[in-house]
Amino acid sequence: GQHRSNDLRTDNSPLQIFVKAKKKINDIFVEIDDYVQDAVGFMHSLRDDRDIVNTQEAETIESYVYKVHAIRDVLKRDHMKVAFFGRTSNGKSTVINAMLRDKILPSGIGHTTNCFLQVEGSDNGESYLITEGSTEKQPVQSVGQLGHALCKEKLCESHLVRIFWPREKCLLLRDDVVFVDSPGVDVTPNLDEWIDKHCLDADVFVLVANAESTLMVTEKNFFHKVSTKLSKPNIFILNNRWDASASEPEFFDQVRAQHQERAVDFLSKELKVYTPKDAEERVFFISAKETLQARLQEQRGQPAHNGALADGFQNRYFEFQDFERKFEECISKSAVKTKFEQHSQRGKHIAMEIRSTLDEILERTQKMRSSQLTVKKEVHDKLNFTEQQLMLLTQEMKDKIHRMVEDVEQRVSKALNE
Ligand code: GDP
Repeated sequence: GQHRSNDLRTDNSPLQIFVKAKKKINDIFVEIDDYVQDAVGFMHSLRDDRDIVNTQEAETIESYVYKVHAIRDVLKRDHMKVAFFGRTSNGKSTVINAMLRDKILPSGIGHTTNCFLQVEGSDNGESYLITEGSTEKQPVQSVGQLGHALCKEKLCESHLVRIFWPREKCLLLRDDVVFVDSPGVDVTPNLDEWIDKHCLDADVFVLVANAESTLMVTEKNFFHKVSTKLSKPNIFILNNRWDASASEPEFFDQVRAQHQERAVDFLSKELKVYTPKDAEERVFFISAKETLQARLQEQRGQPAHNGALADGFQNRYFEFQDFERKFEECISKSAVKTKFEQHSQRGKHIAMEIRSTLDEILERTQKMRSSQLTVKKEVHDKLNFTEQQLMLLTQEMKDKIHRMVEDVEQRVSKALNE
């Protein structure tokens, strides 16, 4: 049944690359946090002895406490973000619903998305929305209610409404994928504002095109603008409404070849984000409407289709799944790189700074000891004690930090290579 296939998908979903890397880097930062706290505690215990630890050293190490906390906060919230663009009514909301396997976003006539809608996972099973500039959680139970809530708000087209949906209802949400639906690129003069506000941190862009017409200048323009602000954005092109081709089988191959060629040219020759060969892998012919219907049927324990669907349904359904797989691979790798690489470098830097400070303190104590061999016994004992403590602690810290730095490095490069 559905449950079993869901479980299987969980285990080998490419999203796990991100999920595991996120867990690892979060765990590593818990350790780094511990080591920083240890080091601060140790320096405090020597604070009265200004000859051993100087104020600046203590302050530097203390400042890492805040830095590490700030990084941990960011890391906890890190996610993978995919943004959908295309002309109004090409089926952006339907594609998102099909991927989420549920009618979450309102779609269809009378439900034109007139602002940005972001769907993300909520903890503790709640569903609600938050409009931009507010912190109030407005509960939503159904699509109808959501559509209504969105209509009654006076929303500006570049505003963002965040929709929180229970994580456990969808694997993509559970694995920290965040979906952004946009108003049609045909209705706005504010593409620059859109891009600055909503696109700069997107890991993947999906252009939902209409297979019943050709790629529009407005759609192309949007991506031209995106690629001036982001180097090599990850882009997928979905030729949606491909079910319409079933009614004209005599033109099927020809139409498909033409769309394919134009999309590949657009990605490779115009935007120059892929080679023609790689671009081939980024173009899909799908029907979001059929896929959504099929998935809703399957969840009710019924067959994916009841025979009333257009010819070629199975192929379009497979192609949708193929898109999802490549999408998952692409987004998880991209997010690991953009989100974790920098932080792991910082973590390494902090660990190394602490190590060198502790080394300096140790060296200083040893020097002091040899130059003060003649001082009174109590001072001598005190120094001796401090030194012993230092030896123990620094050796332990050194080992730990050394292992940790190597560990961080290994895990990160492994995650990045996967
Ligand atoms: P959006 O404005 O881009 O978000 O478009 P919607 O998702 O709201 O879809 C607009 C209309 O097109 C709705 O009535 C959908 O049911 C319909 N639609 C979406 N995808 C398909 C598809 O693959 N095939 C067909 N025949 N209709 C679709």
